[in-house]
Amino acid sequence: MSAAPPPTLRLRLDHEALADNWRTLDRMSGDARAGAAVKANCYGLGAEHCVPVLRDAGCRDFFVAHWGEVASVAAHVPPEQIAVLHGPGSAQDCAYAKAIGAVPVINSIRQAELWHENGGGPCHLMVDTGINRLGISPQEAGHPAIQRLDVAVLMSHLADADRDSVMNARQRASFAAVRDLIPHREASLANSAGIGLGHDYAYDLTRPGLALYGGVPRPQFAGIVRQVAYPQAAIIQTRQIAAGETVGYNATFTAPRAMRIGVVSLGYADGILRAWGGAALRHGERRLPILGKVSMDMIVLDLSAAPDLGEGEWVDLPYDLPDAAQQTGLSQYELLTTFGHRFLRE
Ligand SMILES: *Cc1c(COP(=O)(O)O)cnc(C)c1O
Repeated sequence: MSAAPPPTLRLRLDHEALADNWRTLDRMSGDARAGAAVKANCYGLGAEHCVPVLRDAGCRDFFVAHWGEVASVAAHVPPEQIAVLHGPGSAQDCAYAKAIGAVPVINSIRQAELWHENGGGPCHLMVDTGINRLGISPQEAGHPAIQRLDVAVLMSHLADADRDSVMNARQRASFAAVRDLIPHREASLANSAGIGLGHDYAYDLTRPGLALYGGVPRPQFAGIVRQVAYPQAAIIQTRQIAAGETVGYNATFTAPRAMRIGVVSLGYADGILRAWGGAALRHGERRLPILGKVSMDMIVLDLSAAPDLGEGEWVDLPYDLPDAAQQTGLSQYELLTTFGHRFLRE
């Protein structure tokens, strides 16, 4: 069969910015080294593009959530550098971990027992110090199944590091106390925002995700972290509409005058959700406001500012993450991870 022609939407990835962001976060981590959260297909950007860049920048510690995410990362880095945050939920998961060589993060006594029953070996251990998600509680530290683990990295996760909250110091103190109770080789607490809390939070290894991909979790990262993802779409049709005509589902936009409009190949199936309604795309410096509702595969633009733009021309969706979050009410995490599979990532 012949290959499909290139799509009419693309996600340009700035590899240099991604590498720079990792190096910046590594530097901000002080004596600790930075790893990388590469779960959810590198936060939607594409593991096959991002993992090699992070590896070449110097990253040696990669975190995914699911066992099903290991293979796409292991195609580019040694499997023992990949940790699986959700840990083993079955004997099958343990067997897969052993076969492929990825490292499970143990999150409960039950997972510890399962890991032992299936041969055990080096693992990481997550302690819950207050987010109440995954991880053993500090009170469970003395349990024999926990004490018997061969813990490479003892981890915890901050709940409120993007704010100056009393919770940060409380979680850090709880983590420091639990470190005395569980034998381990290294310790890791900080995500992207946690790196901004200072070297006290960095320990041996930090685990940034969002900021690698251009997110600004705390104001101090602004101007330091560079934008990585640049979505673009082609105009697939232009049309002229008369005053009083409407655009899109439920006719929510009515033309106040005769207008030239353009349809771009981008929609909520691509992760450009209806929350973008009222925003604008750009061609160079020219603003092209979105008209009406975002459809599944299409967005309609007002081309008044760019009368020369025709079918086949590419336009940009401004994607500075803090600005886009402000514009849409979506989180910076949601803005990244919802990018669909139809984009050509390049
Ligand atoms: C997702 C995740 C990270 C990365 O968090 P960011 O806020 O994206 O930097 C780090 N650690 C754990 C346990 C995670 O689940």
